[in-house]
Amino acid sequence: MILEDYNKTLEQDVSERTLALEIEIQERKRAEMLAKRAELALRQANQKLESLATLDGLTQISNRRRFDEFLQHTWLMTMRDGREMSVILCDVDYFKNYNDTYGHQAGDVCLQQVAKAIQKTVQRSGDLVARYGGEEFVIVLANTDAEGAVSLAERVKSAIASLKILHSTSDVSSYVTISMGICTMVPKLTVLPESLVSCADKSLYLAKRHGRNCIKHYQKLFFRDSKPC
Ligand code: GH3
Ligand code: MG
Ligand code: MG
Repeated sequence: MILEDYNKTLEQDVSERTLALEIEIQERKRAEMLAKRAELALRQANQKLESLATLDGLTQISNRRRFDEFLQHTWLMTMRDGREMSVILCDVDYFKNYNDTYGHQAGDVCLQQVAKAIQKTVQRSGDLVARYGGEEFVIVLANTDAEGAVSLAERVKSAIASLKILHSTSDVSSYVTISMGICTMVPKLTVLPESLVSCADKSLYLAKRHGRNCIKHYQKLFFRDSKPC
């Protein structure tokens, strides 16, 4: 009888402990699952933060910060390969007039369309399209010589023309157009990558002076212009 009671107590004890263990295992599994969920949410939040830090809010293409990083990186990589790289600065023509005529909101939509058209035209993985500021965009072309850059700029110009965005107060066309300035260089340690941008800016200035809606290439100015305005 005593032995029977003892066995019963022991059995009860074992089943209670087993139950306690099972509950503990369940709780641990639940804690692990919650920790995994929290880790995933953190990773997603970090990714979002990262893209917010490198994307332009209006156009959803790369922003100036991403451009600065990419330019430095591409400059060094191209220097290592001893090849040429190019930068194209694009500026919407008579954009102040566009805002004044159609309103700032329509101006924003126009910039989004222009950004999308440029981005669609620049497809190579080593290249970058970014919003440089206001109504200006920049294209960085790794391992690209003058001919290649001019030919891409011509395709960008056609892409913008095919958008056919009405611009009744532009002096150069009935539709929205852009002017482009290009510079090509073989990167050197003694030269800063920013010089490529200021050289492209000089070309852009010439494109504006030449009547807008055209492409100018700094090197080519000395021997042959890209297609006339
Ligand atoms: P140009 O042909 O010489 O380039 O003349 P422009 O009128 O395009 O150049 P300007 O520098 O005189 O004017 C640029 C205009 O771009 C003025 C500014 O209000 C407008 N702009 C800049 N950023 C934005 C933006 O995010 N949204 C809108 N809607 N307009 C912008
Ligand atoms: Mg401008
Ligand atoms: Mg402009």
